[in-house]
Amino acid sequence: MFVQVTVNLPLKNIFDYSVPQHLEDSVDVGKRVWVPFRNRVIVGCIININSNTNIRNTKAIKEVIDETPLLSDDILRLTHWMADYYFCSWGEAIEAAIPSPFKKGKTSIRTKIAESDFLTSEHPDDLVREDMLTLHQNKALTEIINHIKTGEYGAYLLHGITASGKTEVYFRAIEAALKKNKTAIVFVPEIALTPQTIERFIHRFGKDAIAITHSRLSNSEKFVEWQRIKNGEVKIMIGPRSAIFSSLENIGVIVVDEEHENTYKQEDVPRYNLVTTAIKRAQITKAVVILGSATPSLESTYKAQTGIIKRIELPERIKGSDLPTVQIVDMREQSRILKRRPIISKVMEDNINRSLQKKEQVILFLNRRGFSTFIHCSKCGYVVHCKRCSTALVHHFDRESLICHHCDYKTSLPKMCPECNGDYLRYFGTGTQKVESELHRLFPNARIGRMDSDTLAKKTAHFEAFKDFKSRKIDVMVGTQVLAKGLDFPNVTLVGVISADVTLNIPDFRASERTFSLLTQVAGRAGRGKAPGKVIIQTYTPEHYAIQCALKHDYDSFYEQEMVFRKQLKLPPYINMAALNLRSKKEQSVIKTAEVLANMLRKHNKADKMIIMGPSPLPIYKLRGYFRWSIVVKHSDALTINKFLRMCLGRWKVPAQVKLAVDVDPRMIM
Ligand code: ADP
Ligand code: ZN
Repeated sequence: MFVQVTVNLPLKNIFDYSVPQHLEDSVDVGKRVWVPFRNRVIVGCIININSNTNIRNTKAIKEVIDETPLLSDDILRLTHWMADYYFCSWGEAIEAAIPSPFKKGKTSIRTKIAESDFLTSEHPDDLVREDMLTLHQNKALTEIINHIKTGEYGAYLLHGITASGKTEVYFRAIEAALKKNKTAIVFVPEIALTPQTIERFIHRFGKDAIAITHSRLSNSEKFVEWQRIKNGEVKIMIGPRSAIFSSLENIGVIVVDEEHENTYKQEDVPRYNLVTTAIKRAQITKAVVILGSATPSLESTYKAQTGIIKRIELPERIKGSDLPTVQIVDMREQSRILKRRPIISKVMEDNINRSLQKKEQVILFLNRRGFSTFIHCSKCGYVVHCKRCSTALVHHFDRESLICHHCDYKTSLPKMCPECNGDYLRYFGTGTQKVESELHRLFPNARIGRMDSDTLAKKTAHFEAFKDFKSRKIDVMVGTQVLAKGLDFPNVTLVGVISADVTLNIPDFRASERTFSLLTQVAGRAGRGKAPGKVIIQTYTPEHYAIQCALKHDYDSFYEQEMVFRKQLKLPPYINMAALNLRSKKEQSVIKTAEVLANMLRKHNKADKMIIMGPSPLPIYKLRGYFRWSIVVKHSDALTINKFLRMCLGRWKVPAQVKLAVDVDPRMIM
């Protein structure tokens, strides 16, 4: 008897081993085994059992690790597809699917469960009765539930504006699946940022039927969850993208909430995109996948246009609460009048004052944390940057230090310019901390809070801030996109965007899309209660269509204009692309390798089927000490790119000092 085994190494081979007689009864597909490999013994996963092999002198497996298969057929199929599509080895994809308590060949773990720190259901929803469903919710549900009943694969894009009742549609779709004795997976962008969504699920379905997974769980907590799934106790799994590997069986519905979010892309091996992978898992398990968003990614809307998935719309807010009115403040004008660049314009200030007087709450949004975002010597022009990255250091007031937002390098405040030793260092740029201090100056009597990933790092502080805001102990909350996600504070009537230009100026072709989506999501936080909401957006580029379309809450018009630009420049979703990212600590090595690789690709590019771009340096040229270059390959068909790259890279050996990362369907080329 022989088994085929994958190992967690970047090798595309699958390895044949013989099975000693005394282990023949215990081997099975999906179980892990200890196998001799080169001079070591490592963990492998059985993916096939055969009665013969072409390999001479096979070695024997040492030991079977699992009593029952750890990886189901579905997960093996999913990881196999993933390895092929995202350019990693099957063994690497399987490693990502192994629950962390089982890593390194472990089989069980001693469990000690800490008290979970999720919010309790202090403010549960009122139950939405069947006869209360809106016309649009009913229409959506009729179609989705009928599909779930067939037990066949289906894919829906639920495009519903903020507060249009998408979550209620998820609930009822899941109920339909549970009625058929099936289960559900619900993806959320980030567990820590979506406490209210989770609270609502728990309230609706009860704690006992739900498992919540996230990176902050200890291994023993994860082990307990895994056991609950295995025992069939869990009907609904809620988690971030990694929940795609959940061992949950018999899945009827897969929900991807806020499907446009960047956190759904994994930047390490396997570099998968959750939306694509969730569709794949739904196909494999014959489930219905629902992608939900107020601002779907262009990819998903395009998929709907080309008939790959079905778009359903919820175009109206529930309870007749209107969408907030949006006002744009032209900061060029403000600067001209004031002869300086204010952080908070007069219009914004007046509106905040008005809200405070009415005892209503305010959210101020800026997608940049820290105090000053760059330090510049006005004598020699030097900008203080990270030792390891080609990026400016950010001044964090509370920690009295300069911090790199890309690698967390931390240093004390320089007394003089490191370049010219002059005494002319000046602090520029505005982060959330500076907004906070400006608010204290302008509104000395207001209670001000801040939420960003700095406060998020201090877990309890973050929950306190959240609770204080909810219980109205804080009047004005300043924050980054941490604040934009799915939070519902009924007493917030004013949402201010300090600078819409921050995301607009990111050197990425999705900058407009992200700006539009962020502004729309942020605006969606206003006026969710009885009082009407108002949104004020400060910008130096008020005429930009991303801002103009957000002003009118007009997704379709944004989509049309942005697609013209994508078509002209041959960018996704019109075409598919893969980025070949090279990095090295030796600048010359990476430059040379990038040239060699690009030449090789061009030589194989018969009849110019592919568009090959580069090599070019990445926008963040140096990161954690690595110099970075990139080559981009484009074609209308993903499979053609895949075959082409396999042909080219199969024969090519990356030089020792250089690392290559193939990124298929990259989210951000930075
Ligand atoms: P979305 O997920 O689209 O942002 P929500 O699901 O959060 O919208 O809905 C907003 C609010 O409206 C929630 O409090 C929800 O309980 C409530 N709701 C949803 N559907 C209905 C309905 N048909 N009638 C009354 N209230 C509803
Ligand atoms: Zn750095």
